[in-house]
Parts: sequence; C-alpha cells; structure tokens
Amino acid sequence: MSNPAVLKVAVNVPLSREFDYLPPKDGSLPLPGSRVLVPFGRRRQVGLVTAHAAESSLPAGKIRRCHEAIDEVPIVPEGLLRLIRFASDYYHHPIGEVMAAALPALLRQGQALHPTVETLVVSDLGAATDIEVLARRAPRQAELLELLLDAGGNGIEATRLTDEVPHWRRAAKPLIDKGLATRCTTRGPGYEEVLPGGPQPGPVLNADQQDALDRLRASDAFGAYVVDGVTGSGKTELYLSRMQDVIEQGRQVLVLAPEIGLTPQLMTRLQKRLGLEPALLHSGRTDLERLAAWRAAASGNARLVVGTRSAIFTPLAHPGMIIVDEEHDHSFKQQEGLRYSARDLAIVRAKHLDVPVILGSATPTLEMLQHCRVGHYQHIRLPVRAGGARPPTYRLVDTVRAPATDGISEPLAAAIGTHLETGGQVLVFLNRRGFAPTLICAACGHVAECRRCDSRMTVHARSHELRCHHCGATRPLEVQCGECGEAVKPLGEGTQRLEEALQTRFPGRSVTRIDSDSTQRKGAMHEALDSAAAGSAEILVGTQMLSKGHHFPKLTLVGIVNADQGLFGTDFRSGERMAQAIVQVAGRAGREQRAGEVLIQTAFPEHPFWSTLIEGGYDKVAADALAEREQTRWPPFTRLALIRAAAHRHEDAIGFLELARSRALASSGETLRVLGPVDAPMARKAGRYRAQLLLQSSDRRVLHELLRQLRPALEEEPMARRVRWSIDVDTIELF
Ligand code: ADP
Ligand code: ZN
Repeated sequence: MSNPAVLKVAVNVPLSREFDYLPPKDGSLPLPGSRVLVPFGRRRQVGLVTAHAAESSLPAGKIRRCHEAIDEVPIVPEGLLRLIRFASDYYHHPIGEVMAAALPALLRQGQALHPTVETLVVSDLGAATDIEVLARRAPRQAELLELLLDAGGNGIEATRLTDEVPHWRRAAKPLIDKGLATRCTTRGPGYEEVLPGGPQPGPVLNADQQDALDRLRASDAFGAYVVDGVTGSGKTELYLSRMQDVIEQGRQVLVLAPEIGLTPQLMTRLQKRLGLEPALLHSGRTDLERLAAWRAAASGNARLVVGTRSAIFTPLAHPGMIIVDEEHDHSFKQQEGLRYSARDLAIVRAKHLDVPVILGSATPTLEMLQHCRVGHYQHIRLPVRAGGARPPTYRLVDTVRAPATDGISEPLAAAIGTHLETGGQVLVFLNRRGFAPTLICAACGHVAECRRCDSRMTVHARSHELRCHHCGATRPLEVQCGECGEAVKPLGEGTQRLEEALQTRFPGRSVTRIDSDSTQRKGAMHEALDSAAAGSAEILVGTQMLSKGHHFPKLTLVGIVNADQGLFGTDFRSGERMAQAIVQVAGRAGREQRAGEVLIQTAFPEHPFWSTLIEGGYDKVAADALAEREQTRWPPFTRLALIRAAAHRHEDAIGFLELARSRALASSGETLRVLGPVDAPMARKAGRYRAQLLLQSSDRRVLHELLRQLRPALEEEPMARRVRWSIDVDTIELF
C-alpha cells in the first residue's frame, strides 16, 4: 500500500506556509479537514491537516511526528478548506492564521467538536441553607451560593465563573464538600430548529418587489444580485420571500449582517416569517453557543444561519443562498490580522458553491455598482418606499447665519420643538464619536493631546476624564491649561454634551443617548433600542450606531449636527461615505404614515455636494463619484494594497517600507504605481511610529503576483523583526 507519508498542516503562526508532519504513532491517518496536535518549536499547537503528500522536501530525520489526532473525522469540509485557501492566497496572509480566524474559538483551542461542559449547580440542601448565616463565617462561599441560586437548575458554566468570579474554585470546594452544590458535566447548549407556530405570511409584495423576486427566482445557480432599494423599500421582505423558497427546498441560507444590524427586531422578524430558529454566530454569544450554531450549520440541521463578518466561514451541509445585508457597511471588512472583506468572500464562496448571492443596500458601494454597469452582477432596484410611506424631505441650515450653540442651531431647535409637540420622535445625529469635544485653552490655544499618539484627547464630562479614542489612554480632566495655567474649556460637540444640551433645552422630554460608550453594559443597547422603537424615548442622540437598519415607527425628524468634515475629506472615499451616512440616517425618518424631515447643519450650504444629494439622491452622488474615480484612477477602476509598518523608531518603519518599495519597483510592470512610503495620517499611535506604502494597479493580477513574491521575501528580511507590518488587500481605510 502506498501510504502518503506526510501530512501538510496549517499551524496558527505568522509564516506563509504549511508544515510537514508524520502521522501520529498510533497508526491513524488524519484526513484533510481534521485537527491534530503537533509539536511546534518547544510548544504544542493545534493544527489543521490541509492535504496529504507522498514526500516532504525536508530530510527524513527532520520531520517531526504529530502527537495525536484531535478529530476522528474531518470537521472542516472540503468546500470550507477551499475558501480558507482562497483567503490565504488572496489576502496574502499565512494559512495557519486564516484557519484560526475561520474556526470558532473552542475548536481553534483544540476542544472537541462536542465538548463536555463543566457546570456548578446548587443542591436542594444548598437551596435550603440560610445564606446570611453562611455569609458571616464564609462570605465568599455565600456569594457564590447566591449566584448559583439565582441561576437555578441549569447552574453556571465553569468558564463563565472563571470570567466573573475570581478564585471561584476556592469557594466552590467547601460548598461541594458540604453538599450545598454539585459539579455536573453536560454536553452544552443544543439547537432546535423549528419554532412552534410555523411560518407566518408577510404582506403582499408590491409590483417592484414582485419583479425583483421573479428575477431572483430565475436561477438557483451562482449569480450576484445587487438589491439597490431606498430605505424602507421592502428589501428585507424581498429576501424573506426568496429565503422561503430556498428553505422549502431543504437548503440552507447564510445571512451576513453588520453587528448592529442583528437587532432583536430583525431576529423576531426572521423567526416569525420563516418559523425557524436561526443558528446565530456573533460576538454577543458565548463560545459554546457559537460552537453549537456552527455544528448545526455544518450538519445541515439549521437551515437559517445568521451572523456577522466571521460567519462567512461557517460550514454548510446543503448551501442554497448567501445574503449580505447592508453590503456597504464597513464592519464587513476586518481591520486587523486577516484583513478580509466578508462581503467579497461571500461572493467568492457563492461562486465556489454555485449558489446565488444577494448584496443589499440603500447605498450600494461604488464597487458593486460598477460590477452592475459592466454586467457582471445584476442590478435590482426598488426605487420607492413600500407600504405607502413617503421619502423624507431635506433642508439645509446655514450655520454661518444661524450659529449653533452646543451643537444645536435655532432652526433645528425650533423643528425639534414642533415635531415633539405633534407627537413625533426626533433623532439627533453626530457623524462620528471621534469628532467629540477636545479641551482647548482660551488664552494660549493649547489643545490637550495624547502623549502616545498624534491625536487629541476627547473630553468625557461624566467620568471627569480625558480619553484617547485611538489608544485608550485616560487622564483626569484638567481645569487649568498645562501650558499657561489659564482656564480651559471643551470645544466641539460630543454625544454627551449634545445630550446635556438637549435635556436643558427640552426639559421634561426623555433624551436617550446611543453610542459605543452608553451601550457598553451588556443588554444596554437592546434596552435603548427597544425604548426607541416603542417611542418612549422622545429624543435620540447618537452616532452611526443609530443609522443602521432600525425601524422606529414614530420617528419623524432627523437632525444632522455636524456634516461638514466629509466635504473636504482627504480620502478618495469621503464623499461616498458621507452620502452613505446621511442617506442611511435620513432613512430612519418617516417610515410609516407621517412624512419625515431631515435637517442638515452645514457651514457650506453652497457646496455642490448638497445639491447633488438633495436633488439627485444617492444615485446621482454615486454616478458622479464613479465618473471622477474613473478619471483619477481610483478604485473600483484600480486595485489597491497597502503595506503598513509600525515601529518604536521612525526610521525602522520607513526603512522597512523603503525596502519593500525597492523590491516592488524591481519586479513590477508598467501598470503598477507605488506611492510612498509616507507617514500614516496618524503618524504616532500608542507610542509607535506608523508609515505606509500604497501599491496600486489597474490589473489585479499584476498586484497579486507582486504580493506573492513580496510577502515571503519580507518575512525573511532581518529588518522585519523590528517592525510590526501587514498587508491590506483592497484597502478601505487609508490609514
Ligand atoms: P428595507 O429592508 O428596504 O428597509 P423593509 O422590508 O424593512 O424595508 O420594509 C419597510 C417597511 O415596509 C416594513 O414595515 C415592512 O413591513 C413594510 N413593507 C415591506 N413590503 C411591504 C409591502 N409589500 N406591503 C406593505 N408593507 C410592506
Ligand atoms: Zn493615544
């Protein structure tokens, strides 16, 4: 028998290759897609077998042997292995790290596919114990017992106790010895697909939706469909109808949504209309829950699989369709480690699986629109709001003539007053948390800066501190200028300051702030969104978080406080992004009977961007931007890759990129442009100097061929040890 002698194994290390190992001593032969425990340097690592080979390029004596197989049968099916390989090639990222990013945490750590779960449960004796008596002698034990009592019959998982109760095992031991608590091992959470009640019918589709559905139904094979429908046009209803077909055929639908899009609102809607429990994969779930969802998807037990970015790597037994909701959302692109776009991988995966992929948005990216223009993708439009709701009207407020105090101009304040009096709900939108108040000295103009980054500190009035939004550094709020000793004052608007100003102006109205600070506590976000949807929150203040996908029935006015930074942005995508942000948040207004109104405060009301947006809508902004990009040779007409480097010494970061540059120039053809190295827009972050080198080409193959040679060469480079560096293919953020 010609046994393959060598296993090719992907190991989670930053090196662009697979490693050769001999099969384990016990004579088993782990198949591709199964995990093995291997010696790596002096450590043990979890690896994934990607292939078998007849021989190795290493001399026989040098090949090490696997310690053992973790899985008896492969857990990563061939299709997923293919996607992992593709992502490693396309993003020029080490395959072991791609494997690690693709697997749920517990599998990555080497746990069994069906891990046993240790839980601690209160016993009958424990339930009858007088906690106060116990607390006097053994407060730690009493505390733990109380937690267990609250948790009831299912007890608490050991991993959760480890996170939440320091040294819990010390308190648990005497409780167990006294018979007050018991240790159990279970198989963890399971998964039930079918919900009682079955699917419920939705509204009768309107003519546009029906046409769109007919086009989607034309084929079960690969095809990319860009569903370009204004906010509230019934895109979700359309997906639901198509999902129903696929699910009735016994096939699976994978839905990717931005983190924030996975609201209880959307979940309830999916559950009700399809009568199914989605297998859910996102950061709000425990590792065990995610693993259970992953298993349900892999076995085919779950026909509806819903998740954020990383869910694109979920194995599917009977794939039928992939949907990317809010395709334009930046959270689909991972900005660290494996810098992948889940949207782009969704298209690749759909092609691999030969199933349709739907890319939906009210503000599609120029990349998708260009694919539609040249006929690669189908453009499906829903131009009007469903169910009779009218589009919102826009009005500009000139902040030169009507200056804003604490962020609110008189015309905006008046509009808020009117809408509130007539029973409407108001959303006041700040374009970004980062444009929050800084601390400036009125006498000498000194601005409070972060000591480790080239950035300004942000004032957080409530906690009386200054915080750097880039590195997280904090220090107490100063009252006197560190330079001249005069009094300092906050400048600019942050969400906190806006909230306070609105509260003062509209006493007796309930003001709710929703941003990443106010929603850190678990569940806080859901509570806030619930009160927003119910209408009990009369004024909502927030950032991008509030603009995405939500349906607040009573909302009639959207006020955009500071729109201008996008008008003069340095990034070639500034205009596209600003239009997306404004159209998305404006789309929250007037989604039911009452028409919505949008007020935009700007110091530049004459800027042509505004007339284009207001008269021509997002379509016109996008068409103009595409024409401009074609002329200036920016994406989607060229492809980008950015090499970033950060080091403690500026010359190390630049020197490393100079090296990359000279290699790139030596090997590249005419279509390649090399820009830089230059300092990153924020040249210092958390004490490191940052620089970047931009590679651009109209020919994707040229760029990828170059990176294929560059990556291993740079890994070998001695200088690479002094810098942190990365390759970012199809760069979204140019910093
Ligand atoms: P989108 O996903 O484009 O924002 P939704 O599918 O959420 O749009 O629909 C917006 C609102 O219109 C929802 O309240 C939905 O129930 C309603 N709706 C959608 N399609 C129809 C229809 N054909 N008839 C009546 N109401 C509809
Ligand atoms: Zn900082």
